[in-house]
Amino acid sequence: MILIRRWVLLTVLSLHAHFLLAQTAFTVIPLGTKGGSDESNLSAYLVAPKGQQNFLCLDAGTVYYGLQKAVANKQIAGSNTAAVLKNNIKGYFISHGHLDHVAGLIINSPEDTAKPIYALPEVIKVLREKYFTWDSWANFTNEGEPPLLKKYSYKRLDSINEIDIEGTDMQLKAFELSHVNPQKSTAALIRHKEQYILYLGDTGADRVEQSDKLYQLWQNIAPLIDQRKLKGILIEVSFPDSQPENLLFGHLTPQLLMQELTVLSKMCKRNNALKDLPVVITHMKPKSNNEQVIKKELQQQNKPGVKLIYPQQGKALQF
Ligand SMILES: [Zn+2]
Ligand SMILES: [Zn+2]
Repeated sequence: MILIRRWVLLTVLSLHAHFLLAQTAFTVIPLGTKGGSDESNLSAYLVAPKGQQNFLCLDAGTVYYGLQKAVANKQIAGSNTAAVLKNNIKGYFISHGHLDHVAGLIINSPEDTAKPIYALPEVIKVLREKYFTWDSWANFTNEGEPPLLKKYSYKRLDSINEIDIEGTDMQLKAFELSHVNPQKSTAALIRHKEQYILYLGDTGADRVEQSDKLYQLWQNIAPLIDQRKLKGILIEVSFPDSQPENLLFGHLTPQLLMQELTVLSKMCKRNNALKDLPVVITHMKPKSNNEQVIKKELQQQNKPGVKLIYPQQGKALQF
């Protein structure tokens, strides 16, 4: 009797542990989703381990307006947008220095609290020399043109070391991307325990960029997909397939994304490894009926069978 009871207890405990492992993943709250034109909806995504309220902000094109929407939609704890900005965003990852990825960070800096900015050295150089200067704004950082207000501290990323994201239960590893070669953008591989989510800043396809940055990224990601540890990918598709390649300016089209995902798929050891993998399409340029065309073209060419997701500002996604 005691043995049976112990067996039942052990079974329940192991099921519970399995359940916890399967549940441990991520919440992503899009603060801005588009690649241009509408300044109230530019690339920015909050990420935290599911159930936690300490977020890293992945790019910061639109911050405050997106937070307002998330708060109104009750996607985030708290009813005061300014307090959420100050307390729940623990740091910023900036993929590259283009305005549509940094405007929200700069504009909100007077009201923000002290926190780190994570970026490649080349991206920090842009922030330090072009934006957080006394001619264009005020220097809220710990480097560059004096006087230094020292609210933000630059944390330099490299392609080798994983770093802790301060104030959160997550780690980050950076990968370089090509965004009009030789200009760099960045991907962030976010880890919480044994689970991962991948965010890519603006990127072109390797063939068009004459680069191997995505190939190198995929080589690092494929084993995580084989082990079912990668919960999702956020990646851009800026233009429909009709955009001429000489006018892509370091961006992807549906066809180029699917070609790249096919390269990734072939690196995986499992057959159909990408099937049903959540892929969030970011940075669509909202011109005429571009978005409908992009969605149709992605659906038609989705040979890897990924789960295509179109993010909405202020609406949380679960991974
Ligand atoms: Zn952009
Ligand atoms: Zn860009």
